[in-house]
Amino acid sequence: MAEPSPPVRSPEPVRLPDGREVRGRPLLPDSWRPLAAGRCELLATRCPRCAALTFPAAQICPRCWNRDALTAEAVPGPGTVYAISTVRTSEPGIEAPYRIGYADFAGGLRICGRFTGPEVDVNEAVDVVVAVLREEPEAPLLGWAFRKAAFPEPAIPEAALPKTGA
Ligand SMILES: [Zn+2]
Repeated sequence: MAEPSPPVRSPEPVRLPDGREVRGRPLLPDSWRPLAAGRCELLATRCPRCAALTFPAAQICPRCWNRDALTAEAVPGPGTVYAISTVRTSEPGIEAPYRIGYADFAGGLRICGRFTGPEVDVNEAVDVVVAVLREEPEAPLLGWAFRKAAFPEPAIPEAALPKTGA
């Protein structure tokens, strides 16, 4: 007779942007970690041989197949919305409508994710926050989502702006 499946991993509760604390099952736990105030840090993998940056985190570099000394690297934010779409069909544990799409990050990473919070459009800046991605009977599926940036970076770096004054 088969062994019963192990219980759902139940890590420390994480804080959502609305202040609620939730204990759940993390999607791709090596690829993100919760920060303070419901924010979230995405973790990519850096290959020491070819310098490729990979998301989600990987044990083998998909560019050169190296598997030695890959390191986790935080993906700096904010991201920039590349594409966004509204899904109008519910599925078990996910209530429609909801928004999903891609955001671009430094290092050439284009990352798929859910969008939460106020409306946001293509080319606008987004922060990464913790979100309940799907309600499940045993524990909610937790992961990252994109939210309109609280303090968006200027579109043009300050150093490139014309100098004012004397
Ligand atoms: Zn590589």
